Amino acid sequence: MISTENNTIKNILASNGLDGDIGLWQRRLDQITKADVKRALDSVPGTYNINKLLALISPAAESYLEQMAQMSQSLTIQRFGRTMKLYAPLYLSSYCSNSCLYCGFNTQNKTERKRLTISQAIEEAKLLAEYGFSDVLLVSSEDKNFITVDYLTELAKKLKPMFSSISVEIYQMTEDEYKKLFCAGIEGVTLYQETYNRDAYRLYHRSGSKADFDNRLQSPDNFAAAGMREIGIGVLLGLADWRLETLALARHGHYLMKKYWKSRISFSFPRLRPASQVESSNFEHLIDTKSLTQMIIALRLCFADASLVLSTREPADIRNNLIKLGITKISAGSKTNPGGYADDKISIKQFQVNDNRSPAQIAQMIRTKGMEPVFKDWDKAFTKTD
Ligand code: SF4
Repeated sequence: MISTENNTIKNILASNGLDGDIGLWQRRLDQITKADVKRALDSVPGTYNINKLLALISPAAESYLEQMAQMSQSLTIQRFGRTMKLYAPLYLSSYCSNSCLYCGFNTQNKTERKRLTISQAIEEAKLLAEYGFSDVLLVSSEDKNFITVDYLTELAKKLKPMFSSISVEIYQMTEDEYKKLFCAGIEGVTLYQETYNRDAYRLYHRSGSKADFDNRLQSPDNFAAAGMREIGIGVLLGLADWRLETLALARHGHYLMKKYWKSRISFSFPRLRPASQVESSNFEHLIDTKSLTQMIIALRLCFADASLVLSTREPADIRNNLIKLGITKISAGSKTNPGGYADDKISIKQFQVNDNRSPAQIAQMIRTKGMEPVFKDWDKAFTKTD
């Protein structure tokens, strides 16, 4: 297998056997022994190589989950302290030109939609600031005619006095467009590949610009090259085999860390949720909580400094447990519909959240775990060069 960091991520995945026929990795997973898992656990915690990760996510590693969890917990405390960062999504639009089969905003869904004007978005942002959030994630469907680069830059400039960190989770853009966002004060971009399995990708993304797998794969390079400080990637868990997805996701993350070493990489773990006109139980690769836990701690044991993010897609009891095992950032009090903080019934949601606790309740829960909730992710004074 050839692997060169000068290569594109598309070529790297292909040359590692992680694009196309993935039977090789499936067979290797089945052949992992307990001795392989022990060897992986004896290696330096927090360092990555694909064979180590393979052992840690294998069926054979399931009997080592307790040990893995303890190692993941102490490594996370060592690197991040006993802290948990909090953020909130701010949904801007539910109009979308894509037809992702797992999403309530799918263009085919005949439903009422909503977009926020800049002043309406600011009103929502004020509510988040009142809750104490200093880290906001602007989220939008692919509504390019309304949520334009100009809209986002103008909004970001107005939000800057209120928040220490502004990120986006929006449609794919060019490097130049991302640069404009960065200049306006947006410092992070999250963009999920959704699945690294091309066949599954084709199945779930039937139309719209998002249907282009390779274009999506290239996007993190575009925003990383634009200077974004936070680079978020992930897969939507439920679309394809989680173990093979983890191998590809980790390889992608490792590539980005090497190439854009000034930025911080984060991995997210969204599990598919029910949504308007989406019955999540129809998806054949849904993963159980044990597998989700194994994925999170395996990635922590391979990437000591990666930010690991868990959203309100997960129920309260699972989030209460997972924050001790490697997660470093969680959302709280989230609304997944534009305008939802002012009026939750106002429009359709992208998906149903699973943890409906308020930000204050989440902060209190974090304290009871002996950790400190951190609403402020970053201070711009840290990056001043004069
Ligand atoms: S996942 Fe995003 S791009 Fe796909 S339909 Fe939903 S909002 Fe649109």
